[in-house]
Amino acid sequence: MGKMEFGFHASAGGKIESLPQKVAAIGGECFQFFSRNPYGGKVKDWEEDKLEKFFIEAKKYNISHYFIHSPYFINLASQNERIFDGSIEALKTDLTRLEKIKASYVVTHLGSAKDFVGQEEYLDLAYARVSEGLKKIIGSAENVPLLLEIAAGAGSIMGSSLQEIGFFLKKFPQLGGFCLDTAHAFASGYDLRETSQVFSFLDQVDDEIGLEKLKLIHLNDSGGKLASRIDRHRHLGEGELGLKTFRGIVDYFKGREYNISMILETPTEEGLLEDLKLLKSFRG
Ligand SMILES: [Zn+2]
Repeated sequence: MGKMEFGFHASAGGKIESLPQKVAAIGGECFQFFSRNPYGGKVKDWEEDKLEKFFIEAKKYNISHYFIHSPYFINLASQNERIFDGSIEALKTDLTRLEKIKASYVVTHLGSAKDFVGQEEYLDLAYARVSEGLKKIIGSAENVPLLLEIAAGAGSIMGSSLQEIGFFLKKFPQLGGFCLDTAHAFASGYDLRETSQVFSFLDQVDDEIGLEKLKLIHLNDSGGKLASRIDRHRHLGEGELGLKTFRGIVDYFKGREYNISMILETPTEEGLLEDLKLLKSFRG
């Protein structure tokens, strides 16, 4: 049997060493966090003693998988050199910090093709720009633990379809893989409300990307309607998706030889507590 773990996006609030305890207190088995201020600014190295404390705490609470979410400003499709270079630097920084803190993966969005809109074959240009960025991040490395997350697709956002994510993951097999976000996929037009739809969607992930590349799922109910392209996270059962979606996902992975982490990205502690309880009951 594979191992399915549930957790949530946690905020370190400047105290990295307290994260595992904070996560475990609500019932989390894994977690995601920003390794630095997600809005930008100077990145400070973690102090050695705090890292040591972090490792001890993670072990104590039996947490072995945690994920770094890249900052908000990432845009690998930007034509502005400062933004483009800044995005590459920020992702490289997070990959370095991943090594320091022994995280599993860095998760990122690709960005927006808005700078290319109006130009002929603008999507081709945007794809080429993203490829240029990814190439710089990868360099000569054979394995880059970076996951590309599906986006809700507002405006000219890149990576809002399985085909698009699949394109980059095939072009750069060095990359770690795919992060599915249920709210983003739904807002992009993938209907996941019925169990049969969840199953056929995950089969489609297998076809377009390869299930073995799916390393992380963001479990969020959706405030936006199907294909609305509106990115709003809701607690499980409180959005347009409903509980069947989440039970379906857990059922799909149950009994498979597959290790996967699932992360909630919703704000309230009470809500997270309830959602984690629910997911654990689905898992049985
Ligand atoms: Zn997400």
